[in-house]
Amino acid sequence: MFKAIRVDKTETGQAVSAVEISDAELMEGDVTVRVTHSTLNYKDALALTGRAPIIRKFPLIPGIDFAGVVENSTNSAFKTGDAVLLNGWGVGETHMGGLAQKARVKGDWLLPLPRGLSTAQTMAIGTAGYTAMLCVMALEGYGLSPDMGPVVVTGAAGGVGSVAILLLAKLGWHVVAVTGRPEEEAYLKSLGAREILPRQELSAPGRPLGKERWIGGIDSVGSHTLANVLAQTKYSGAVAACGLAQGMDLPASVAPFILRGVALLGVDSVMCPKARRVEAWARLARDLDLAKLDELAREISFDEIIPTARDLLEGKVRGRVVVKID
Ligand code: NDP
Repeated sequence: MFKAIRVDKTETGQAVSAVEISDAELMEGDVTVRVTHSTLNYKDALALTGRAPIIRKFPLIPGIDFAGVVENSTNSAFKTGDAVLLNGWGVGETHMGGLAQKARVKGDWLLPLPRGLSTAQTMAIGTAGYTAMLCVMALEGYGLSPDMGPVVVTGAAGGVGSVAILLLAKLGWHVVAVTGRPEEEAYLKSLGAREILPRQELSAPGRPLGKERWIGGIDSVGSHTLANVLAQTKYSGAVAACGLAQGMDLPASVAPFILRGVALLGVDSVMCPKARRVEAWARLARDLDLAKLDELAREISFDEIIPTARDLLEGKVRGRVVVKID
């Protein structure tokens, strides 16, 4: 028997509890992993609280990412004792996830632990940080570089935002951080942000085009914020969009696209092809300041998972949350 968080379907919706389950209750897969660390991402908080229909099979163990050590494997790519990590692929949504002492998954979904990172560090980065890296790669792939102008990061004090700032600052970008938490100014500057903008400047309905302020952007917020980020992007700039913390809508006009040649780059981490994941994790191992990563991540115990999920959705969590499983 091992410990797990389980979400069960009820007549009124869903119920979440800490339970003891057996290997037999895990789903099909060719690799069983003893999970050492998992995390709480925004999507995990939605799944745990039932705030959005993230879980589509019941009962289910939530947790869209985890890291640990292979316990047994019939997949030729992995053997007992290998350190591995997983992000996405529907794990924690339709397949038993990472908020448990064990996970059984398809070996094709696993990555070997990147050289230079511990299991705890990969989960301090988590899906949020890996997505931040995918956003940075999207901007670079579009041809943007720090000499072209500033880059804006929305949802700055959250998981995606914090890791994005850390990465962009290390790569030499002038980072403008947008936050609803003015009290986090010192924290955001310690990550490398050069300017802080209050969230209200971008979160209300704005004009189709505004003053050109930045050449690039990483947006984890969506809605009016993304519309205003686009409207204030310089000629030929690009914005990587990955999130919906303000909303799933995009009340924008085509003006930034057709009058300034601005590009909107969509970023998805869940079904991202394996080669790009490997590249993103190798870049994280190389480009991230690991001492600062420690500062932006907080470790919680198994018992703190459920209350911390509520705090995350209330905007009370700064940076990243690592769940120490064992
Ligand atoms: P966090 O909760 O850690 O961060 C979200 C941040 O957004 C908050 O810290 C806050 O930043 C800001 N925010 C929250 N509510 C609002 C609001 N109403 N209006 C404006 N800003 C708001 O979540 P994550 O960083 O883990 O995830 C961020 C988003 O990215 C989520 O929507 C998530 O689903 C998405 N995501 C998408 C992925 C993909 O594959 N596309 C992968 C990972 C995440 P502050 O306090 O600084 O204002």
